[in-house]
Amino acid sequence: MKLELEQSQKWVELFVQKLETNKAYLNELDTAIGDGDHGTNMDRGAKAITESLSKKTPNTVSDLYKAVAFAMIQKVGGASGPLYGTAFLDMSKAVKTENIELSDLIQVGSDGIKRRGESDVKMKTMIDVWQPIADDLKSNKLDKANVDTALNSTKDMVATKGRASYLEEKSKGHLDPGSQSSAYLFESLVDVLGD
Ligand code: ADP
Ligand code: MG
Ligand code: MG
Repeated sequence: MKLELEQSQKWVELFVQKLETNKAYLNELDTAIGDGDHGTNMDRGAKAITESLSKKTPNTVSDLYKAVAFAMIQKVGGASGPLYGTAFLDMSKAVKTENIELSDLIQVGSDGIKRRGESDVKMKTMIDVWQPIADDLKSNKLDKANVDTALNSTKDMVATKGRASYLEEKSKGHLDPGSQSSAYLFESLVDVLGD
């Protein structure tokens, strides 16, 4: 399965909407185990994506992902900006050079975050959503329940990367904010695939 340009645009649009709608909630999650700005950061990124796409409509999926990557890198800041930016930049390159399957595309994004963040699964970061979703796509069983399961798995983890790791054991019992924003990304993907 592959995403065409129109579907990819819809995917990004839905993600932008969810980020804007849930800005306060993402800040709330980040207040519990971070510095309270994840919603504000991602909302800034969402607005930068919209602005960029309105200035120049991308002609290819690769250009679309590149525009998302640049908006994230330039406007989001924090840890999450460069991480989402790397994921989308790597995905932009991958769709350009290969006839890549959606599952492999998300794996490329996940690998980009791992490389840039020096992180892996079970560290209570957005990787705990990206990697299981890549796996679910490979076995052809991505739905909203899977996204929810991945997100909720972060609750009982002790953070060993990012700001939440400063809290050590006290990071337990809270959802990871970056995993929540990534869950919005993949709920949006499920919506697009369901159409
Ligand atoms: P900051 O922590 O700089 O304020 P944000 O609040 O925007 O940045 O983003 C925090 C999120 O970034 C975390 O919830 C986590 O999911 C993700 N994150 C932080 N560090 C890493 C890392 N090294 N690898 C993967 N994800 C990370
Ligand atoms: Mg933060
Ligand atoms: Mg911050």
